[in-house]
Amino acid sequence: MANDKENKKFKAYSSGKMCPKCNSKMASHKDRYACGKCGYTEFKHKEGEKKE
Ligand SMILES: [Zn+2]
Repeated sequence: MANDKENKKFKAYSSGKMCPKCNSKMASHKDRYACGKCGYTEFKHKEGEKKE
């Protein structure tokens, strides 16, 4: 029962983005993607934001 709840929670946060390190699905956060397996984090790029 608890497992089902956890699964739904995971799906809600699933971004569909795959981790380049361990190839697991990454969780989508407000400003970044995070891999729950290896801890890899990738920041999202804000629209209109340029480094140069
Ligand atoms: Zn990973």
